[in-house]
Amino acid sequence: MAFDDEIREVYDLARRALSCQAELGHKEIIFEQHRSYDNISQSTTNEIKSTEEHFAEMAAGSITPDAGDQTSIMDQTSPNQTVEFTGVDDHRQAICDCTKCPLGLTRTKFVYGVGNPNADIMFIGEAPGRDEDQQGEPFVGRAGKLLDKIIIAMGITRDDVYIANILKCRPPDNRDPQPDEMKLCMPYLKEQIRLIKPQLICALGRIAAHGLLQTTTPLGKLRGEWHRFEDIPLIVTYHPAALLRFQQYKRPTWEDMQTLMAEHERINKDK
Ligand code: SF4
Repeated sequence: MAFDDEIREVYDLARRALSCQAELGHKEIIFEQHRSYDNISQSTTNEIKSTEEHFAEMAAGSITPDAGDQTSIMDQTSPNQTVEFTGVDDHRQAICDCTKCPLGLTRTKFVYGVGNPNADIMFIGEAPGRDEDQQGEPFVGRAGKLLDKIIIAMGITRDDVYIANILKCRPPDNRDPQPDEMKLCMPYLKEQIRLIKPQLICALGRIAAHGLLQTTTPLGKLRGEWHRFEDIPLIVTYHPAALLRFQQYKRPTWEDMQTLMAEHERINKDK
């Protein structure tokens, strides 16, 4: 790439980062220190039965998983799993027909996750919404666009991080995930995390934080300190969808991102 093009690209990144930081209410210039600029350019239904009914029918045998081989999926994902995958593509392929819970019968598309399979930072939300269900990718709707801005404000891009949800299928009408659904789907997320090996995890919103940390502590009390998910440092912040409704959450979210960036810098300062 010509030098002028490189300068223009760095300028454009700086302009976008500053613009996004300003939108989050910040007035100082913040850039991720250990970012390689080489990577910058890479850039329902009402007919659905209640979850309880579905689980009851599955348990009674009147509904059976209709896609994929349940036995092999269970072998691959049970807490005592013996199958180990070599990468996220293998893993996704093995589980994309899952119907372990009723959401597998009502989804449009399975939503595995997206991003850099070697990412240092992993963002984890609760479940796909309507847009994600249609496109098969997490955080692509209005909340997703805001998450993109937050990531750009951090001086990095969506391609630098990994984004996933606890649930891989959309709960009907965007209702909250049920505990049984999260319990059944969590082994998939754990395997994703094992494969990606992020240095840091950011839980987006109350439900993701509660699912990952197995707590009912209010989100406001979970923010502002580091937690651990299977020995990986985890920070909690507001879900981007909450930021769309409540502008006052933008500033504290940006403070959480600064904490995340500072820890990332600290971990990598000698590398
Ligand atoms: S939400 Fe998870 S456990 Fe339920 S069907 Fe989808 S992938 Fe399977």
